[in-house]
Amino acid sequence: MRSLPSFSTPEWPFLAVRRGIPLGLAFLAILGALLHAQGRGWLVLAAVGFLAEAWPSFKHGEAYLRNRRAIVRWDGFWTFAFRPVARFLGKEEAWILSFCAWNNRRVREVFETRRAKNALILLPHCIQLARCKADIFEDPKNCYECGLCPVGDTIESSLKKRWNVRISNRSHKAYREAREFQPDLIVAVSCSDRLLKGLTKLAEVPCYVLPLQLPHGMCVDTTFSIPNLITAMDDLVETRTTPPARIQPLEGIA
Ligand code: SF4
Repeated sequence: MRSLPSFSTPEWPFLAVRRGIPLGLAFLAILGALLHAQGRGWLVLAAVGFLAEAWPSFKHGEAYLRNRRAIVRWDGFWTFAFRPVARFLGKEEAWILSFCAWNNRRVREVFETRRAKNALILLPHCIQLARCKADIFEDPKNCYECGLCPVGDTIESSLKKRWNVRISNRSHKAYREAREFQPDLIVAVSCSDRLLKGLTKLAEVPCYVLPLQLPHGMCVDTTFSIPNLITAMDDLVETRTTPPARIQPLEGIA
């Protein structure tokens, strides 16, 4: 597997819950069925149900892609269900990012043997410096590329590598635009909460996610690793030699 940028958070905590709990319960149900004749039928039925619950987490490659909508929605359900527990333990962010890391592994596997042809990058508006007056929503090329925030470098890369990029300040508009664009891959940068919501809302599209860094708190002067974005795009997406047919290389969604 190629060495794409990954989360510092490991994927195993999510997997331990998502796969470990149903498998553990299936094991207990089988054990119960072996030890107790009474209610054996129900215990076997329960074991089958628990195994069926764990089964989608073993799908990968094309099988994963075909069933991605259902798999991601169900994985999202587990993530939302255990989020209060993670919050109570002070690990909410790590829990969500663990799910994101697991999602990224599955998406990487899909693009092991081929490249996306119509990828779309989604970025949040808060990467623009709060005090910057450049109207990048009117036209992202209004950015002066002063280097004080990631917008300038993103524009430079998007023009050079002919990426389709959207900068959005409303999640629902970003989802709508993404559906209209019909990408075969989304590379999204956002905070953990928005990544979780985006993954489950656009579950039908393979989505590789990169975490936003919040040195000044939520939604203010946020940043992200442009080298990680470049590496992800280089490894997952077919190199484009002509400009995108349907949209400009960089677009704001106000
Ligand atoms: S790179 Fe500079 S000019 Fe461009 S959006 Fe960021 S702060 Fe504004």
